[in-house]
Amino acid sequence: MSRPLLAGERVLLVDSKGRQYLVVLEDGGQFHTHAGIVGHAQLIGEDEGATVRSTTGARYTAIRPTLADFVLRMPRDAQVIYPKDLGAILLLADVTPGARVLEAGVGSGALSLALVRAGAEVVGYELRPDFARRATANVAAFLGEEAAGRYRVEERDVYAGIDEADLDRVVLDLPEPWQVVKHAEGALRPGGILVAYTPSIMQAAHLREVLATSDFELAQTVEHLARTWHVEGQAVRPDHRMVAHTGFLTSARLLGPIPGGLKAPKVPS
Ligand code: SAH
Repeated sequence: MSRPLLAGERVLLVDSKGRQYLVVLEDGGQFHTHAGIVGHAQLIGEDEGATVRSTTGARYTAIRPTLADFVLRMPRDAQVIYPKDLGAILLLADVTPGARVLEAGVGSGALSLALVRAGAEVVGYELRPDFARRATANVAAFLGEEAAGRYRVEERDVYAGIDEADLDRVVLDLPEPWQVVKHAEGALRPGGILVAYTPSIMQAAHLREVLATSDFELAQTVEHLARTWHVEGQAVRPDHRMVAHTGFLTSARLLGPIPGGLKAPKVPS
């Protein structure tokens, strides 16, 4: 069934060179580029894939942005977590609809968007009020009111403690995740999962040392590399450039204390 583009919706306009622009459609709105003007009226009521011409004849195709499209183009103050890592975090933390998740720090809200869209009930702790506002606005802008009702950001320091109880998941992207381990032990239910994203392996190693003396078990640290390919006729090869480093993902489950601990699984997940 066709689902025409409506005023108020976000669309991604793709030009003939593959450049992409994120635009909110408005009645009477105009999209101005170096290559002329596209009236929003040319797009409203059309299906995704609609291709229109600007006043100078340049071609633009409209599609709804995916979550990954939005995350890479939304207004942001802090460095966001890349889509390849967002996807991995959702499965490492095994986020399910209705799961109760504490996220800290929230930054621009890229990870929040992924968690909330997976159906979780998310409480964010964020030190900076401007970031907390920005993240809240980004979640509401992309996911709408229903989803925004499952997302709340508090301006506070997660190193000082976690007030939530019976959490299913704790997901961290901040400089010293090891400072949260004790608080997470008290706030997660048994079987709960902690996941931390850290740009530096020194942070991951320090976190692992603290996890090893905690009630968390089954700790693992993983790095995901994504290499895109150039595919054109006979020229089929990896792209020359890649985002070679983003961060390390460390996860563990609250199970202890278990005398002697659990051995790491033989098959990595
Ligand atoms: N994951 C986010 C980016 C987080 S950037 C995204 O994908 O968009 C790290 C954030 O942690 C920053 O906004 C910083 O203000 C916040 N932060 C750092 N220490 C913190 C603490 N102790 N408690 C709460 N937030 C903290």
